[in-house]
Amino acid sequence: MKILFLDQSGKPGGAELCLIDIAKPYRDSCLVGLFADGSFRNLLEQQHIPVQVLATEPIQVRKESSFAQGLGSVSSLMPLIARVVRKAREYDLIYANTQKALVVGAIASFLSRRPLVYHLHDILSLDHFSRTNLSIAVTLANAQASLVIANSKASKMAFVKAGGREQITEVVYNGFEPELYRIDQSSSSQLKQQLGLDGRFLVGHFSRLSPWKGQHILLEALVRCPEDVTALFVGDALFGEQDYVQLLHKRVAELGIEERVRFLGFRSDIVPLMNACDLVAHTSTAPEPFGRVIVEAMLCGRPVVAAEAGGAIELVEPDITGFLIPPGDPTRLAEIIISCRNQPLHAATIAHQAQSQASQCFDLTTVNQQIEKLLYRIVKGK
Ligand code: UDP
Repeated sequence: MKILFLDQSGKPGGAELCLIDIAKPYRDSCLVGLFADGSFRNLLEQQHIPVQVLATEPIQVRKESSFAQGLGSVSSLMPLIARVVRKAREYDLIYANTQKALVVGAIASFLSRRPLVYHLHDILSLDHFSRTNLSIAVTLANAQASLVIANSKASKMAFVKAGGREQITEVVYNGFEPELYRIDQSSSSQLKQQLGLDGRFLVGHFSRLSPWKGQHILLEALVRCPEDVTALFVGDALFGEQDYVQLLHKRVAELGIEERVRFLGFRSDIVPLMNACDLVAHTSTAPEPFGRVIVEAMLCGRPVVAAEAGGAIELVEPDITGFLIPPGDPTRLAEIIISCRNQPLHAATIAHQAQSQASQCFDLTTVNQQIEKLLYRIVKGK
């Protein structure tokens, strides 16, 4: 099966990391077409997945764009669409991995007469998107996609609620290779030492820096915790949220917790870093479509606390495989941190249960088989 994957991003967010895993089995017969250059291209090349940057200029439309801005950018997309149409004729299927890829992919699918699959990694609601962008996504998916792969039941529900066709939508969770997350603990202890964090109770937050990812909630929780509790922020502002980064640093200074906070920026060595943490916190203030970091923490055998909304609810069974807190609630977060710090055996039992359950439920081989079956059905026209 020859697949033309499309993704708008040059930077590796969760959707892009998921695409690497999906594209790997097709590396001899696929192409990943990007609409921007960046480190995501390098990651694909490292995995020997054919990749090409198809856009010659950045696409201006943003998640919150108005209808007029949207229309304006469609005309600027014409050269890109023409390129994608030509490419698509060499492939059996177009696989759009992001919203802008859906826009380009839908038009290219119509013109090249190739079926379109849309991998939905977002909760299509007004929390995340403008009304215009929301209706463009739903209208194009309904009109042109043969299949919508939703990354959680929550993403599917939001799509259907926004008017998306339920009959074409299947839920497929992200897949992971559990063995990659089980590492020798000594390398993590070393890493903790190198970071000068020995003896601290380390709460890790692994996410791009963005207001809705709620890094500020962890800062507010920290001041309600004993002095040895320290926060490790791993991730960068991938989509220009520099104001938020400044706000976080300002808040750290205001709270006088400079010694208890580390910002590491974007890192590729997530596994040893997660293993060095005593607890992993997910603090999104808006519903998370899936939440890869939650599953990754589980696979590392680290206890995880997540904000109870969206896909996170499907990943965490409260007090069995992790902890759930109301979104945006630093007091409740602090309580969970303190209880994990004071009762490490209980936290370890939960983390152990989560590790074995996550290894079964999110196994990449099974997920890729599921996707292959769905794609074959589309290509064979059944
Ligand atoms: N991640 C990473 N380096 C970082 C921060 C995050 O590789 O410095 C990865 C993280 O391990 C996860 C992904 O980025 O696999 C984020 O996915 P998630 O679903 O949690 O959030 P999204 O970015 O899709 O909103």
